[in-house]
Amino acid sequence: MTSIDDARRAPARTGRVVVTGGAGFLGSHLCTELVARGWEVVCLDNFLTGSPANVAHLMGDERFQLVRCDVTDFIHVPGAVDLVLHFASPASPVDYLQLPIHTLKVGSIGTGHALGLAMEKGARFLIASTSEVYGDPQEHPQREDYWGHVNPIGPRGVYDEAKRYAEALTTAYRTTHGVDTAIVRIFNTYGPRMRPFDGRAIPTFIRQALAGEPLTVAGDGSQTRSVCYVDDLVRGILALADSGEAGPVNIGNPSERTVLEIAQDVVAATGSRSRIDFIERPVDDPTVRRPDTTKAQELLGWAPEVQWQEGLARTVAWFRQELATSA
Ligand code: NAD
Repeated sequence: MTSIDDARRAPARTGRVVVTGGAGFLGSHLCTELVARGWEVVCLDNFLTGSPANVAHLMGDERFQLVRCDVTDFIHVPGAVDLVLHFASPASPVDYLQLPIHTLKVGSIGTGHALGLAMEKGARFLIASTSEVYGDPQEHPQREDYWGHVNPIGPRGVYDEAKRYAEALTTAYRTTHGVDTAIVRIFNTYGPRMRPFDGRAIPTFIRQALAGEPLTVAGDGSQTRSVCYVDDLVRGILALADSGEAGPVNIGNPSERTVLEIAQDVVAATGSRSRIDFIERPVDDPTVRRPDTTKAQELLGWAPEVQWQEGLARTVAWFRQELATSA
């Protein structure tokens, strides 16, 4: 095992990396940063919830290759691979509620294929797990040693349990086959390239505010979220990939705010005159959510840097341009 000091000193890796789900929101930002850092990137995606448009700016770069591939079928990548970042999975509640069986398959069969690739190539493997493994948490904030409070047969169970299984499978490949694995538990992240209709609170609020429609806040809006700007998240993920750490490690912004505050801030940041409406709260919607990021700080020297107002302004600017172009 790598010591904490070794992990901190670990030189930045480069080589050839496979990113599953690389044409999605997070995957596309990862691919961009990896190419910028000198990696050769093979992006695998079936475009179920992502799009080639998300990586269009990388096409033509000789270090970037986009391959249409459903990771639940098989994964075949000729040549050497040094790192596998497994990000393929529907991620927003709207998506995984529409695709419940696919979500379970990509977390189980897809993760098995991605781990098999890492084993075959002798590559390091990193899986995108989620704060949803903590379910509707009974401990707050959530540390990595909290086992969670998940309803396996509730509507969100397909996503939460897929990721919990994926963590178990990843751990089994590490202990049984000696694969060099890492688990990152990602908390709510926002930024450019989120889809306006993906159902997550921030893109929904921005879309509604820019259209002058009422912002639809679930329940009374007192439930909390801790949201991390995508650039901070990518830096944290790549710090974990560069280290020899196995995790799980929480990566997220511990600065917590209510959903109502997020809606009010979106109204202010867009200069919108939209009102706020309150709608029914989804089943098993978590009441509180805040990462304990002590481990990320101690093992990786990572902490978020982008302030909420700054990240929100950048995201609003991107949505404004995107919605104007599509109109
Ligand atoms: P996204 O939907 O934008 O990206 C997922 C990508 O995976 C899409 O491009 C999609 O087409 C692809 N995909 C889905 N099934 C596939 C399959 N069978 N084969 C190949 N590609 C497939 O979602 P995202 O927000 O970018 O999330 C990426 C990963 O990060 C997911 O694993 C998600 O669970 C995890 N995560 C995200 C967040 C967040 O706040 N965005 C939080 C926690 C965890």
